[in-house]
Formats: sequence, C-alpha cells, structure tokens
Amino acid sequence: MLDINLITLSFQDPRLERHFCNSYSRRYRFQSLLAMKVALALFALFAVLDWLLYPQLVKPLWGIRFCFAFPALLLILFLLVGKAYFRHGQQLMVLSLIVANVAVVAMTVVIPAELNDVYVAGLMLVALYGYTVARLRFVWATAGNWFGVIAYNLANIWWGDASHWDLVAGNFFCISTNVMGMVASYSMEYDSRRGFLLQQQLQRERSQLNLLNRHLEKQALTDELTDLANRRSFFEHLHEEWRRARRDRQYLALVMIDVDHFKDFNDTYGHQAGDECLKQLAVVFRQHVRRAGDVAARLGGEEFVLLLPETTPQSACEAAEALRKGVAGMEIRIPQQGLLVGHHISISCGIAAAVPERELNPESLLARADKALYQAKALGRNRVACSVAGDAVENCPAKAGGGG
Ligand code: GH3
Ligand code: MG
Ligand code: MG
Repeated sequence: MLDINLITLSFQDPRLERHFCNSYSRRYRFQSLLAMKVALALFALFAVLDWLLYPQLVKPLWGIRFCFAFPALLLILFLLVGKAYFRHGQQLMVLSLIVANVAVVAMTVVIPAELNDVYVAGLMLVALYGYTVARLRFVWATAGNWFGVIAYNLANIWWGDASHWDLVAGNFFCISTNVMGMVASYSMEYDSRRGFLLQQQLQRERSQLNLLNRHLEKQALTDELTDLANRRSFFEHLHEEWRRARRDRQYLALVMIDVDHFKDFNDTYGHQAGDECLKQLAVVFRQHVRRAGDVAARLGGEEFVLLLPETTPQSACEAAEALRKGVAGMEIRIPQQGLLVGHHISISCGIAAAVPERELNPESLLARADKALYQAKALGRNRVACSVAGDAVENCPAKAGGGG
C-alpha cells in the first residue's frame, strides 16, 4: 500500500511529491506535447464535419473553432513547448481541456437539437484526450473534464434548444465516459507512482551496494592491522609496475623489511603490544613512500615490503637506510599497567632492484630481496643489504654499513 492520499493520489511526504511531479513531467513531456499536437490537428480536421453536417451553420461553428478555440489552444501549445511546461505544465494542459470543452459545448448550443448527439461525441473525445493520452494527472484531468459536463448542462439548459430527453441521453454518455476515464486515469497514475517508488528504492539499494562493494574491495586489498596494502594487493602492484618498468626500461626496486627480534618483543610485552608496535611501524613506513606508485605493504607477520618504481639500487639503498635509521631512532610507546612504556626496536632490510628483462620475473626480484634480507640478518641485523649482480649481496650503503 502506498503512502498516498487516496483521493488526490499525492504522496504524504511533500518532498517526495515534488520529486515525483518533476520526474513525471520529464517522463511524459514528449507524450503530452505529441498528444496535444495530434488533438489540435484533429480539432481542425473536424471543421470538415461541421461543413458536411450543417453547411448553413458553418460560420458560427468555424467561428468557435478557428476564432476562439484553435488560437487559444495554439497559444497554450506554444507555452508548453517552452520552459513553462516544467513549472505549469499540468495547469496549462487543463486549460487546454477547458478551452476544448467550452468550444464543443458552445457548438452543442449552436447546432439544432437533432445534431446534438454528434457534438456530445466531441465532448467524449475531449474526455478521452484529457484522461489518457495527455498524461494529465488524475486530479487535473477530473477537474477539467467535469467542468465540461457541467458546462454542457448549464449551457444547454439556458441557451440550447435540446429537449430534456436529449440532455439526459447526452449526460448518460458524457458521465459514463468521465467515470471510465477517471478509473483509467486513476489506475495509470497509481501505477506511475508505484513504479516511481520502486525505482527510488532500487536506486537507493544500488548506491548502498556500490558503497559496500567499494568497502569490500578496499578491505580485500588492505591489511587489517596496519591499514597498509596487503599481500594480495602488493603482488598486483608488483606485476603491474614490473610491466610498466619493462616497457619504460626503468629500474624497479624492492625493499624487504623484517622486524628484528620481534619474538622477544612479543614475549616481553605480549601479543597485543606486538600488534601495537606493528601499527606504529606501519605509520613510519607509510611516511617513507610518498611518491606516486610507491607502495608499502605487509606481507604477513612482522614482514613488510616497499615497492619503489623508477628507483635505482643506490636510491633504494638510501631510502632503506633512511627508513632503518628512522625506525632505530623511534621509541615504540606501549601501554603497560596504565603507563606508556617506551621501547626501541630495529629492522633489517634486503634490497633488490633491476630493469626488468624478458628472462627475469617479479618473483625472482622478490627472491633476491629476500636473500639480501637474510644476509642483513646474518650480518647482525639492524642493517640494509643489497642484492647485486648474480647471487652476490653487499652491505648497503657500502660506506655507512649496518648500525649493528
Ligand atoms: P629475527 O630478528 O630473526 O627476525 O627474529 P624474530 O623474533 O623477529 O623472528 P621470528 O620469525 O623467530 O619471530 C617472528 C615473530 O613475530 C613470531 C611471532 O610471535 C611474531 N608475530 C608474527 N606475526 C605477528 C602479529 O601479527 N602480531 C604480533 N604481535 N606478533 C606477530
Ligand atoms: Mg620474520
Ligand atoms: Mg623478525
């Protein structure tokens, strides 16, 4: 059941109602204007019938048709084609309905009683136009068309020469057409409103789904603890940057990072403090990858990696050394029994950098960086080692050595 006024069909929520009216106007603009043009053409064409049925009365009939109704309808159409349609479309269309009704009612008065039926059929055509093809909203169509019925009765009682029985017969047809028209118009608008609500709901659900998708996508590529890129995301970036570096003949560097003696840290302060330590380290790592394309990722446990496109081995060494120093100089703040306890920690880094060639692959670069890391550990930790040509590994930067 829709939340609407069952008589006017308006939504109870005025904002929703405004939104619906705008969307309705936009949706049916083409149909309404086309209906009006066709109606105008038919209205002019019926002049032939005036002439065929009653040539003696062609003057007053054509006078009503072409001196009053046609120009008025043309003016309304002209206004509707412009911007007025969006602000006053329904009112203007109802005005066109009233003009057409007045014209046909005037004709029923002008013509002799025996032709009354023919022009009553005209009123029924106007009702058909108003209730259905013009896409007037129910309340407007009802108002415009019942105006026609009332005008028909009043005009014929005061000025017409039709008998009471003619009027009764005319009313049977007019009123029946109006009742059926109202049913048609009501159900069409009701369906439009229901469709509008469904569409709104669909749009809402779609945007919620998009939001959720984006969130899930981000989640699938992000390490939950540190908010750095996760292993999967790192490998995606690695392959992408590898292809780019091969195409551009540029260096691609990897810095593998492992926290030194992290097991001891965990054993001393507990796993939760260990997590906190990893989070604080991640902040420092993120600060060291500022260039577009640089990626800091957590591979798992206390192992991290930096992906540095367009970076020579020398530059990678400098960057890793700066990072190592940064970590060595920082104090991890761990909450312990209500106090923040400071603790120094160190990292070891293994570097591999290469200009990708056909016989190399990203995994081999990673293996070389891993090997260099192993070497840095073997040499005493808290240092940077760089894989150079072949299987050789050297301390890096050669001059600086490890901080051991
Ligand atoms: P090394 O200097 O040789 O790297 O020594 P290490 O103790 O860091 O190395 P090891 O591989 O023996 O220990 C790694 C430890 O890291 C073991 C585990 O307790 C800890 N660890 C791994 N993942 C996590 C994690 O997600 N959170 C915490 N708090 N600790 C972790
Ligand atoms: Mg490890
Ligand atoms: Mg370790």
